[in-house]
Amino acid sequence: RRKWGRVLRILKEFEEGCDTPVGRLKQVVDAVAVEMHAGLASEGGSKLRMLLTFVDNLPSGKEKGTYYALDLGGTYFRVMRVQLGGQRSSILAHDVERYPIPEHLLTSSSEDLFDFIASVFKQFVERDENGSERSLGKRRDLGFTFSFPVKQTSVSSGILMKWTKGFVIEDMVGKEVGEYLQEALMKKGLNVRVAALVNDTVGTLALGHYHDADTVAAVIFGTGTNACYLERTDAIIKCQGLLTTSGGMVVNMEWGNFWSSHLPRTTYDVELDADSPNPNDQGFEKMISGMYLGEIVRRVIVRMSLESDIFGAVFSKLSTPFILRTPIMAALHEDNSPDLAEVARVLKDILEVPDAPMKVRKLLVNVCDVVTRRAARLAAAGIVGILKKIGRDGSGGITSGRSSRADTKMRRSVVAVEGGLYTNYSMFRNYLNESVVEILGEEVAQHVTLKVMDDGSGIGAALVAASNPSRD
Ligand code: ADP
Repeated sequence: RRKWGRVLRILKEFEEGCDTPVGRLKQVVDAVAVEMHAGLASEGGSKLRMLLTFVDNLPSGKEKGTYYALDLGGTYFRVMRVQLGGQRSSILAHDVERYPIPEHLLTSSSEDLFDFIASVFKQFVERDENGSERSLGKRRDLGFTFSFPVKQTSVSSGILMKWTKGFVIEDMVGKEVGEYLQEALMKKGLNVRVAALVNDTVGTLALGHYHDADTVAAVIFGTGTNACYLERTDAIIKCQGLLTTSGGMVVNMEWGNFWSSHLPRTTYDVELDADSPNPNDQGFEKMISGMYLGEIVRRVIVRMSLESDIFGAVFSKLSTPFILRTPIMAALHEDNSPDLAEVARVLKDILEVPDAPMKVRKLLVNVCDVVTRRAARLAAAGIVGILKKIGRDGSGGITSGRSSRADTKMRRSVVAVEGGLYTNYSMFRNYLNESVVEILGEEVAQHVTLKVMDDGSGIGAALVAASNPSRD
């Protein structure tokens, strides 16, 4: 019962279902720009929440002094100290410490979570400054990267709308996040001012802008995906009369929740969504981010194994959801050895499919390629959608009113990028970079640069703290 023909049919159908010709990508670009407008026009006007961040002046490079940052939002919790020299790109020193978040805290109480955060911070400061009484009493400014959907009320305060990524601490939903941190730090006797509350995209944009003033947007491709960008306040219609000294404000798109009928969706995506704890939510993220890519691949090969015996018995490890993590998928996708030894190893050790012949190994690589290529190309369309909204895609933007002439001088645009999926998975990164050029055309694409910002989410929070000096 080999049924190889059936398997190939499943692959072909899947490939067709995931097809992203440039015409379709351009429709996605338009849909992103349109949804951005809708989300800015009214609260709940789009699946894109387009949240205000109250970050109106991005770091200029003039920031000077020592600032701290705390970064909560993924698997790790990070503490850092950043020393700024007062000139663009002069980060004199930056110390980072990374701690895994104890599992039980994900579902504990806000008190336990913030007590943990404050203790870690206290230890960090004490080690850093040898714990002398004098230095402990000194006032510090801190930026807090809190990568969950927050309704900001100022640059340093905001209300938690909901938890994501496995956190469930009900007593905190609807509460002021900055205050919780401020109180926990005070309880530890620390003289710290929470000067900025940002999410990871905003931190990344801040670091990007610190290095390069042409940085207009930031995108994260990690476990999840999200983007933010600099918008003109007069375009934020849902917030009439919003005034900032710069005339602009960073908007957190929460783009993981983007949806459009132009997205190439397959039955595997539909089933993945239905089986998830948040059905009908985060549709774009479920096609793009690191949390899901390996799982989509697994679902396709489960289907193949149900129709044939090329993967051996059906009840192997293959039937365990999320067993094929995206970093493993990347390793087998990028296996360059002539006999695909890494692919064979993953099949044997992780999926418990021993002795897979060469054509089965190749098939698996093929499925990975389809999944990652689609993800990267849609991600590229998302980025170009932002550029289109702000008139940086060479077409003049859909709100400009005036039609721009083709010979209008294009401004340089930089998009800051962070996240393990982009930085570690070169096939994803290459497909994404190529697609940006394909969608924009070579001419226009010359003016667009994607730049990786390592540790951007944390360092950027310290920078936002530094560029928002206290008024007292
Ligand atoms: P966060 O969990 O805060 O998003 P990262 O930005 O470091 O943290 O992203 C980690 C995610 O990136 C992982 O969950 C995984 O999906 C993806 N990732 C990490 N390493 C690799 C890799 N080598 N290949 C593919 N994806 C990777």
